[in-house]
Amino acid sequence: MSLQVFKFGGASVKNQEGFKNVCDIIKKYKQDQLVVVVSATGKTTNQLEEVVKNKFSKDIDAKMLLKAIQDKHVHIVQELGFSEEHPIYQEIHEHFVEAEWVVEEQRESPYDYTYDQIVSVGELVSSRILHNLLMRMGVDAVWADARGLIRTDETYREGRIQWDVTNYQVEKELAVYLSQNKVIVTQGFIGSTGENNTCTLGREGSDYTAAIISSALNTDAMTIWKDVPGILTADPSVFENVSKLDRLSYTEAIEMTYYGAKVIHPKTIQPLKLKNIPLYVKSFIHPAGEGSVIAGEFDVEYPPIVVLESNQVLLHFSSRDLSFIAEHHLARLFDLFEKYRIKVNMMRNTAISFSICTGDDSKKIEAMLAELHGEYTVFMDRNLELITVRHYIESMLPKLLEGKIVVMEERITKTIQLVVKEAPAIVYKVKKDNE
Ligand code: ASP
Ligand code: MG
Repeated sequence: MSLQVFKFGGASVKNQEGFKNVCDIIKKYKQDQLVVVVSATGKTTNQLEEVVKNKFSKDIDAKMLLKAIQDKHVHIVQELGFSEEHPIYQEIHEHFVEAEWVVEEQRESPYDYTYDQIVSVGELVSSRILHNLLMRMGVDAVWADARGLIRTDETYREGRIQWDVTNYQVEKELAVYLSQNKVIVTQGFIGSTGENNTCTLGREGSDYTAAIISSALNTDAMTIWKDVPGILTADPSVFENVSKLDRLSYTEAIEMTYYGAKVIHPKTIQPLKLKNIPLYVKSFIHPAGEGSVIAGEFDVEYPPIVVLESNQVLLHFSSRDLSFIAEHHLARLFDLFEKYRIKVNMMRNTAISFSICTGDDSKKIEAMLAELHGEYTVFMDRNLELITVRHYIESMLPKLLEGKIVVMEERITKTIQLVVKEAPAIVYKVKKDNE
C-alpha cells in the first residue's frame, strides 16, 4: 500500500463523462491511500474571472454571469443522474450564495481580495461533485476544505505558503481519514490566511497544492493526470514531431517550467525535490500508459526541449540624459519589477539602455510605467514570442526560426533563448505591361 497524491486539472473534469472517468481512475487505486486534489471544471476559472471584472467595471451584470456558472454545474450534476433531493444540490447552492454575497457587496474591497473570494468557488464546487460521485460509486471518500489545510500570507491572488502552519494542519487534519482508508478529496489552488480569508495561489496553482500536500505528508509519490501522455519535448498543439520524455531529473523539470513549459506549475517541483518524492505525469485519457516520471538527479542525454511563450513584450529603458545604466538604475528598476510582479524572462544591459522581455500584461506594465513617470525613456516592442530551447542543437534552429525575425538572443550552456517576431510577408509586385 502506498500513500499518493493525485491531481486532476480542469480539462479532466470538464463535463459529466470527465467526472466519471476520474472516478474510474481513482477506483483502480483501491489498495492505495489517496489524497485527490481537483481544479475547477473546464474553463470555469476564466468565467469566474469575468464575474470579478464585471463586478468592478459594471459592464455586464456580474450576478447574471455567476448564475450561468452555477447553472452549468447544476447541469453536470443532473446529467450525472443525481436525484433532485440529493444534498449535492444544496452544497453547490451554498457555495454560490457565498460568492453572490461578495458580488453584491457595496463596500469597495480591494480587487485581488475580492477576486479570491469569488474565483475560489470553482474548486469548491468541482470537489463537491467529485466527492459525491465517488461515494455513489462505492468509494469511501471524504471532502476536505483546503482552506483548513493550506495557510498563506495575505498576498491575494498569489498567496505565499506559510509552511509551518500548513505542514501542521495537513498532517493533523488528514491523519484520521488516512488511518480510516478514506479517499480524501480536496481543492487545488486555494488556501486561507490567518484571518480566515480565502487566498488563491496563482493561476494553474493546483499542481502546487498537490505538491504542498505531498510534501507535508511525505507521500510515496504524486501524480498529475493530464490530457497528454506525459512530458513532451514541445507543445504538440504548436510543434510537429514531439516525443515523450520518459524520465527527467528534478533540475531539468525546474528549468523547463521556469522557462514557461505549461505542463507543470513552476512552483511544484521544489517541495517534492526536498523530500525526494517522485512526480508522475500521466494521461487521464490513457491511464494505463507509462507517462513520465520526474525524480532524482542524474545526467542523461536529453533531446532538445522547446518551450514557447507567446504574447511577450520587450521593454527598453534608457536614462534620459543618456548616462550609463549603472547599478543604482538597475536596483530601482528591479524594485519596481518586484512591486508590480513583472517577471523578467530575459534581459540585456548596454551602456545606455537596459531591456527586458516579459509577458505582455498591459495592466501591470502601465501601472509600473506610471510610477516611473519620466525617470527613463521607455520604448516598447510588442507582439513577440520567446522561444527557449534546452539542449539545443545548432542544426535545428533554421527550421525553428522559419518566417521569424530574431530581435534578441542569448546562449548559455545547454540553453538558447530567442525573442522573435513574425517576419513581414514579402510581397512581390509584378509590373504588368500596361501599367
Ligand atoms: N482553476 C485554477 C486555474 O485555472 C487552478 C488550476 O487549474 O490549477 O487557474
Ligand atoms: Mg484550471
